[in-house]
Amino acid sequence: MTENSDRAGPLVEARALSKSFPVRRGVLQRTVAEVQALRGVDLKIEQGETYALVGESGSGKTTLGRCLIRLIEPTSGQVFFAGEELTGMASGELRRRRRRFQMVFQDPYGSLNPRMRVGKILAEPLAIHKIVDRAAREDEVDRLLEAVGLPSSVKRRYPHEFSGGQRQRIGIARALAPRPDFIVADEPVSALDVSVQAQIVNLLKDLQESLNLALLFIAHDLAVVSETSDRVGVMYLGRLVEEGPTASVFGNPQHPYTVSLLSAVPVPDPETKRRRIILPGEPPSPSDPPPGCPFHTRCPIAEERCRSEEPPLAMTPAGHAAACHFPGSLAAC
Ligand code: SF4
Repeated sequence: MTENSDRAGPLVEARALSKSFPVRRGVLQRTVAEVQALRGVDLKIEQGETYALVGESGSGKTTLGRCLIRLIEPTSGQVFFAGEELTGMASGELRRRRRRFQMVFQDPYGSLNPRMRVGKILAEPLAIHKIVDRAAREDEVDRLLEAVGLPSSVKRRYPHEFSGGQRQRIGIARALAPRPDFIVADEPVSALDVSVQAQIVNLLKDLQESLNLALLFIAHDLAVVSETSDRVGVMYLGRLVEEGPTASVFGNPQHPYTVSLLSAVPVPDPETKRRRIILPGEPPSPSDPPPGCPFHTRCPIAEERCRSEEPPLAMTPAGHAAACHFPGSLAAC
């Protein structure tokens, strides 16, 4: 599972990645606008690293995750995996590399074939990717089930016979079956009961560590990722607006958007009071992003410069990057 252990450089890299979707209307389905879901995103994920992507829905997190493994085609920019460029790679070449990047979906029920028994669901990727020969498949399925905390007896059952948490365990086992190097987990716990969310998050983290996987963990709940990720990227309107080691970004947020997101996270200590920052209005439409800083229409400390000049994602005195002309100013207010 670590074909790249000796390779220098990130396992996954995006350079200036953009993705637009056409908005079609009318009987003739004419294109009337373009939704800019991603706008020039640069990102690196190292082998054995958990990188969390957070932000409101519609910020581009899922689109970024899917572009990184070419489940959808970026409009422009490049994606590299283990030093090879995936963007522009012919479909046959890409298919041979697919084993190495897998996805865990938000809806464990919708992502499992309801007509297949669990044993077959897990044996299928083993056969497709020729992971083990036919005689060893049964043992390998048992090993996968054990890795996700399920008994081998569940092989004979169908997905509808399980709880949401158990189904997500099966979804994770299926993602692990081809022995990938990189997993994109897209909101893997948001459809689950709060009581089982922590179990699934801990399972993913344990597997990521023991198998030295790179894990992209997409979430809108910052509390979920604060304990589990090495680095975090905060997205707003298709751009990364803050990025760095999780302890630094969460402990000393520099971008007003991150400050507002963190202000909504409950603090476990009842003695500690956190000032809640409620942003006015909804995020602007990604088909018509505002000029200048895309956050200026909601930012409590926006100044004239923010309305015309888009700030780059740049290193701040806090030791991590933020896209703001006045980093750290809202947190200091
Ligand atoms: Fe707010 Fe201006 Fe910073 Fe944008 S650049 S986040 S509008 S202070």
